[in-house]
Amino acid sequence: MTGFSVHDAEASPAWRTQAAESRVLAVNTPFPLHPGQQVADSPPHGAPRVVGAVRLSKYTDASTSPEVQTEFIYEGSRAIGGEVVGWANDTDISALKTTPWEREQLRHWLDRPAEWDALIWQRMDRAVRSMADMADLGRYAKKHGKRLIFASGPGGGRLELDFSSPMSELIMLILAFAAQLEGQTIMERNRGAAAHLQALGRWAGGIIPYGTIPVRKTFSDGNEGWWLGRDVDLTWNYVTEMVDKALAGRGYSYIRDHLNEQRIITPKNHRARLATPPRKHDPESRWSDTTVRDILRSQVLRGYQTREDGSVVRDAEGNPVRAGEALVEDDVWFALQSKLDELSQTKSQATKRKDGHPLLGVLKCDECGANAYHFANVSSQKMRRYGTAFVTQIRSSALSFVTDDDAETMVIRVPGNADALADQVFKDAKLRDRVVVAYGADALALPVGKMSYAVLVALWDALQLGPGLEHVQKPRKRHLFHCQGKVHAPGVKSPSIDFNDTLRWVDEEFMRRLGRLRRTEVITTGGVDNRAAIKELESDIAALVEQLAKLRGAAADMVGRQLNGLSDKLEELSKVPFIPPQRQTVRLDRTWGDDWVAASRETRLDMLRSAGVEVFMRCATHRGQPVGERLRMEIGKHVTPEQDALDDVVYQESF
Ligand SMILES: [Zn+2]
Repeated sequence: MTGFSVHDAEASPAWRTQAAESRVLAVNTPFPLHPGQQVADSPPHGAPRVVGAVRLSKYTDASTSPEVQTEFIYEGSRAIGGEVVGWANDTDISALKTTPWEREQLRHWLDRPAEWDALIWQRMDRAVRSMADMADLGRYAKKHGKRLIFASGPGGGRLELDFSSPMSELIMLILAFAAQLEGQTIMERNRGAAAHLQALGRWAGGIIPYGTIPVRKTFSDGNEGWWLGRDVDLTWNYVTEMVDKALAGRGYSYIRDHLNEQRIITPKNHRARLATPPRKHDPESRWSDTTVRDILRSQVLRGYQTREDGSVVRDAEGNPVRAGEALVEDDVWFALQSKLDELSQTKSQATKRKDGHPLLGVLKCDECGANAYHFANVSSQKMRRYGTAFVTQIRSSALSFVTDDDAETMVIRVPGNADALADQVFKDAKLRDRVVVAYGADALALPVGKMSYAVLVALWDALQLGPGLEHVQKPRKRHLFHCQGKVHAPGVKSPSIDFNDTLRWVDEEFMRRLGRLRRTEVITTGGVDNRAAIKELESDIAALVEQLAKLRGAAADMVGRQLNGLSDKLEELSKVPFIPPQRQTVRLDRTWGDDWVAASRETRLDMLRSAGVEVFMRCATHRGQPVGERLRMEIGKHVTPEQDALDDVVYQESF
């Protein structure tokens, strides 16, 4: 190949069309060339030997592509009647961060001043970005008698720095200063671009959250990347189901049991299924309260990127960074969180619900303040009617007997050994001694005036008295509220009070005092929490302020501008740093009475609690004392939400 002249008007389109095949290592250049670049191996005598310098930084646009730079350099070379003898193609290099001598290819030429006459760049910003670098290049050019040319100078025309005049040196310094300014702007723009990419959201890999599936997506910057989409074919549906159940008031354990019963795929198996290569399905994997809670509480439901501790990743402006599509809408997410808060509160309040009773936590001992227990016991009281029933049955049987009506004793001749029979009837020897007056070889002497139901049944069986027992009225199972009196002082009796009578009294008393009052309800609405974002902004600002103290001039201006931007954002967020979920008391159309009548026992207990009702029971002062004289109801000493209604109660009771 002979010398290729850039003066040739026909040459320009030619190198363009040959672009694809031009990546050759020319004799005169130790580096690969870009499309469109060639070198003249024997430039005509007298023509300046030109080295074209191309530089690409990481963030680039079409106006600085190597092709464009190459074209401009050829133009510049033609303008001075030169021949391109070599190329310095430094890519992925920032002029701001590297001096000309730190760029491998450019340095190759700078180290060989004898092989060329002029260095041509497309623009000054491709050459240097600091006054110091420009000054260094200038000194170098002066020393070696080289020409520094920028094909597209300020205003568009070619600029050549002539170092034979001191004025040129001044211009050079001024232009370099301009370049430094531009460099700072680009750095700022790049930082903005990086922040923008982050703000677009990318899924960076790692654990695939339940309900999501990684998908390829073209982002608004035109680039493609990974993104977490809804796993509509499988797990996303279960997430929605879980959310619905929780919103309907179902707790974590209920949802856990439901998922396990239905054998719904677990998060572990969801990840195994989507792993590359897919991992084995674990048939032993089960749902736990924690897995259910973690899913329902996670900001991933909103499509946000979260850290390991569950906190949301935010961008420089404090906005949450997305990693994917929202699995539920924001209003649903907020409603869900309030509901879960509410559920966990109710759970902690409902202490030992399994041995609960309809007045648990409401009915208390007036002597010690302890909660009343519920007891149901069968009376072991001796009753005249059981004795009468026994005597009647013996009289109509075939057994011989003798009665002593005054002593209310009966001696019965029994079949077989009376001693053995007594043992059979009264398995407990102590009981036998108490019940049986005397027995001989074949006779039992029993007190029959009053008898307990248990003894009646045992004798009936042992003496084989036949049918008839079913007509005898069984003793009533007696239900009581009772204080266990564990903390009572010696001698202070523990009150017991009839269960049903007490419930009846509470119903009547509640209706009498609250029945006509309108109910209020506490409504919770979602809040705003900018505190984390504010904290991050503050630390960013502190870092910038520290940086600012070390900077001068243009750089300081730039950091100052960033600082202003962040401060504005901070100010905006600080206006509403935190609005807790709002609790609002709303007056309803219904009265306490309306609801009480319609309510089940369980709901009534909730109503008693929410109205802050306490009932205290005292010991009876005499037999058969009405429960109303032994009970006292207090309302609303420790409530907050229904304060309105309760103030009303106090007011109305003052009439
Ligand atoms: Zn007590």
